[in-house]
Amino acid sequence: MATPSKAASSGSKAPPKPPQAEAAPPVVTPMGWMHTARFLTTAAELFHLPALEVPEIAFVGRSNAGKSTCINTLTQQKQLAFASKKPGRTQHINLFALGKQGITDTVLADLPGYGYAAVPKQDKIRWQKVMANYLVTRENLKGIVLLCDPRLGMTELDEVLLEVVRPRVEEGLKFLILLTKADKLTRSDGAKALSIAKLQAGGGQAMLFSALKKQGVDAVAQLMWDWSHEAA
Ligand code: GDP
Repeated sequence: MATPSKAASSGSKAPPKPPQAEAAPPVVTPMGWMHTARFLTTAAELFHLPALEVPEIAFVGRSNAGKSTCINTLTQQKQLAFASKKPGRTQHINLFALGKQGITDTVLADLPGYGYAAVPKQDKIRWQKVMANYLVTRENLKGIVLLCDPRLGMTELDEVLLEVVRPRVEEGLKFLILLTKADKLTRSDGAKALSIAKLQAGGGQAMLFSALKKQGVDAVAQLMWDWSHEAA
């Protein structure tokens, strides 16, 4: 004869829970993970950045490309990347920590926007040095997201960046060209811009993104998660 279950013997009508439901780990989605973003630190100079062990993903792009809006959309925090726009901080590198339960497992680096028309040549040269040094010296750098407004295409400084990034991509650095404000393009212009960007990305990837229409948000979150969590 079968032994009566605990629920039956106690007279309760609730069916017993399957044992695996209690044992299952909490589900962490890439989007949920992005939403854990919090401000970590800001640095005016590269050598002020803390040395970190966790993977770092850098967001770069010319001013007005939509970088702050993109970071804020991905992390669902309205003011996070706008910290980078405060007077005196526009040339800073800002780090945001990601990870559940306050445990940082990845860092996002918001690098200074570049190529603003009003910026003197000296500042452009300074930016190029900072970028090149960052790419060469940042040991925990795992990937780069280059934000580009496809209506403007690659600017001169985007090309400079591509030149520096390409050899590192060949060595295994992850790379994504993110075409922002995709809502402003027709479907066919979007497809055209995407195929050009895929070629420019070399071994990297390219995607369309719109903060306004929430296009590409899940896909970028998933990619960031994959970059960060793949076996080294
Ligand atoms: P950043 O200088 O690269 O940080 O650029 P911002 O995030 O400040 O964006 C520059 C401008 O582009 C702002 O006026 C934004 O409202 C606008 N923008 C950003 N993302 C989008 C988007 O997905 N769609 C549209 N239509 N406008 C956007």
